[in-house]
Amino acid sequence: MSDTVLGVKRKHEDDNNHSNGEGDHEVKKKAHRLDHHSEAEIKKKKTMSWDYSKENGPDTWVETFLDGKAIRQSPVDIAPSKVKVDDSLANNPLTINYGEEGNLQLENPGLSFKINISGNSIISGGPLGDKKFKLVQFHFHWGHEDHEGSEHRINGKMYPSELHFVHYNADKYGSFGEAVTQPDGLAVIGVFIKVGEEHDGFSALSENASKVKSKGSKVDTGANFNPSSLLPKNTSNYWTYDGSLTTPPLCESVTWIVLKDEIEISKEQLSSMRNLKSDDDGEHPIPSNWRPPQPLGNREIKASFAV
Ligand SMILES: [Zn+2]
Repeated sequence: MSDTVLGVKRKHEDDNNHSNGEGDHEVKKKAHRLDHHSEAEIKKKKTMSWDYSKENGPDTWVETFLDGKAIRQSPVDIAPSKVKVDDSLANNPLTINYGEEGNLQLENPGLSFKINISGNSIISGGPLGDKKFKLVQFHFHWGHEDHEGSEHRINGKMYPSELHFVHYNADKYGSFGEAVTQPDGLAVIGVFIKVGEEHDGFSALSENASKVKSKGSKVDTGANFNPSSLLPKNTSNYWTYDGSLTTPPLCESVTWIVLKDEIEISKEQLSSMRNLKSDDDGEHPIPSNWRPPQPLGNREIKASFAV
């Protein structure tokens, strides 16, 4: 997850409050109160700074943001020989219906490369059952050398990058902000990325990445873009488990769907992300922004396919 979860939460809550209906004093008063509450909470969390350094990095997050109470954290190291093949997943296939974005919007929140989604893109089926989950953003994790970068691992192996499509349970919750703290609130599709041939779909991102070089920048490219162009051909083979956001506030609300098939981008395309900066003056590159694997505990990873 990117470091703007709280920002997104705030925005969606505001949207939601607004739609409660103007002119209704009671609703407005309540919304106002909630606003203050969440503002205080957000302020508190925001003052707890985090990054990928030794002092404020992943080793400190569980203590700082969860008071040490971690039950279903992500990412995890997936051992394909130990997962349970679940036939019900193949019997109720995962369906991914991503629609065209009329105006591709890119953002550099400071520690990630993020694309905000406004169109109607929905996933359902598989571990999500009949519930519809709506895509709100996708973003990337990467390393500064090719041997590191992905958050999930397969038998300990990392890919140079990992793409996260972030959805919320729109059948059950009114907004992303409402869903982010609920155990069945979010679904994230993870896609491994390796280095090789140039990727046509990714070129819309790499060619515009320099427009969001410094922290806090956001640009509307005006370009048409369909997020499905970043999916591998086969999306029916995946691993799934109950987990969390991989950045603070680490909410334990994510049904993870990690696709088995990867996509391929060129060295230059990967460099377009490595060249993004983590500060306003554009001096310091975004560091390798992956969280190491977390203990699986009693959780079971399920596979939609048999090897
Ligand atoms: Zn992520």
